[in-house]
Formats: sequence, structure tokens, C-alpha cells
Amino acid sequence: MHCPFCGANDTRVTDSRLVAEGDQVRRRRQCASCQERFTTYETAEFLMPRVVKSDGSRESFNEVKLRAGMLRALEKRPVSAEAIEAAVERIRQTLRARGDREINARDIGESVMQALSNLDQVAYIRFASVYRKFQDIDEFRAEIDRLSQEPSLPSERDKEDT
Ligand SMILES: [Zn+2]
Repeated sequence: MHCPFCGANDTRVTDSRLVAEGDQVRRRRQCASCQERFTTYETAEFLMPRVVKSDGSRESFNEVKLRAGMLRALEKRPVSAEAIEAAVERIRQTLRARGDREINARDIGESVMQALSNLDQVAYIRFASVYRKFQDIDEFRAEIDRLSQEPSLPSERDKEDT
């Protein structure tokens, strides 16, 4: 780290502490050459993977869009804003934790369905019916039957490979 005053590259850290609720490290530094002091802030860079859409085009991950889709499905359902935010945050973390630079839009959709199925079955069905574009009423009914048989977590991989 170059000294912003004299440009010397020998500076030492005199103090280091967490700020911004632990999301940032604030360091006091002193230049070994001119003795000036200055402060640096360090934050982790959170890069979300790029989203690959079904037509092959790419776009930035859009949390607003993700949340809007979930809220639409959850409209008038008895689920708290807090629970929704926690779910959004979990999805974000899950996607980031994969460490991939790109991610299929489909995988995001699956994550949302997984989250909704934990929050509210009606919202899950609403979202799934749009997202998976159920071909006909029988397919829709089959999904509901499947849910009523195992009301816990629907597994991610046992359906749909189109
Ligand atoms: Zn200096």
C-alpha cells in the first residue's frame, strides 16, 4: 500500500478493527518514510454469478426481480416480510456459494421453488405453475397430489428434464 502523501511503499498497520457490523475492516496505517497516518477500509467483494437465460443470453443477477417474483407468488399469503427476506438472502448465499461465474436461470427458478415450498404451499404452486408452465390440468393436479403426499421438501431433481 503506497503512502498517499509521499508515495513510499513502506507503510505499516497501527490499528485494525471491524466496522459496519463486521462487513468492513478499518485499518490505520502509518508511513515509515514521512510518518503520515491514513486510514484504509477493506470489504469483501461479493460477485454474483452471471445468469444464463434459456435462449443463451446473459444478464446480471437481479435480486429485485427475484424478490418480485416471490412476492407475486406470496401475495395475500400469511408469510412475514422477514421470512421472505431471509429466504431471498438464503437463495443469494446458495447461488454465490456455488462459486460458478455463470448460473442457469433455471437453477435460480429451482432455488426459488425450493424456498417457496418451505414458506407456503400455495405460493409454491402459484410459482411452479407459471415457472414450469404446466402443460395441462392433469400435470398440475399431479403436482398437487405429489405435494399432499409429502408435504415436506420436494426434492429438486426428481422432476422435469425438458
Ligand atoms: Zn509517506
